[in-house]
Amino acid sequence: MSILRIENLEARHGLLSAVRGISLDLEEGETLALVGANGAGKTTLLRTLAGVHPVAAGRIMFDGQDVSTVPAHLRAAAGLALVPEGRRLFATMTVEENLLVARSATRNGPWNLSTVLEAFPQLKPKLKAAAGTLSGGQQQATAIGRALMTNPRVLLLDEISLGLSPLAVQGVYDSLRTLMGKGTAHGTTVVLVEQDLQRTFEVADRIVCMLEGRVVASGRSSEMTREQVMASYFGHRGTDTPQAVTS
Ligand code: ATP
Repeated sequence: MSILRIENLEARHGLLSAVRGISLDLEEGETLALVGANGAGKTTLLRTLAGVHPVAAGRIMFDGQDVSTVPAHLRAAAGLALVPEGRRLFATMTVEENLLVARSATRNGPWNLSTVLEAFPQLKPKLKAAAGTLSGGQQQATAIGRALMTNPRVLLLDEISLGLSPLAVQGVYDSLRTLMGKGTAHGTTVVLVEQDLQRTFEVADRIVCMLEGRVVASGRSSEMTREQVMASYFGHRGTDTPQAVTS
């Protein structure tokens, strides 16, 4: 059974349809990347999955339950965790406090302060530092670590590379590899939005291309090319473009 099933999902900003009838299945342990041009609806889709943006139509099934109208904090408690674009840490609290604050909603699982620090060793010397004084990469690591502290079953990551130096991005992705690790105790199901296509191909099992709120192409990353994905950014459907999918 899919851990996450999206059925004909619609989400709006006022009169604008940002997500238009998307259907997707996510298997446990899978890493799925959402790609597409600015305004394609990727952030709105992630926010709708997390419950911080309302469902206009369709439904979201999480672990067999319809969570379409379940408030965000209850979805988080059930194991759907969003790391939003822009990180949103408590700037005056220390790294340790930022991590521990997530423990209140903690479910049982492999993630605790010590395993998060194992995955993000760059945070160890910064535990007592105020989050607002950290570099962008350290803040991003803290934001992901904080989400992990809830022991999510599905982790939603929105543009975690945004505004980071190449070195910091590398550091964060090195750590992510640990948590996406298949067959390890930490194997976490991930949906991520990433603008860097090379990185997308490196980390994702499956790539879903969005354009103007719709899925225009999708496939296993091992079976898609960069050219196919780029073509879908602009709505081109060459003969070799992967098939549009609805599930
Ligand atoms: P980006 O990569 O730029 O974040 P995206 O693929 O994540 O793009 P969204 O941010 O979900 O796309 O935006 C989808 C559509 O919804 C766009 O047309 C955008 O202008 C619109 N939109 C997004 N947020 C709002 C908002 N708060 N109010 C009104 N319209 C919005």
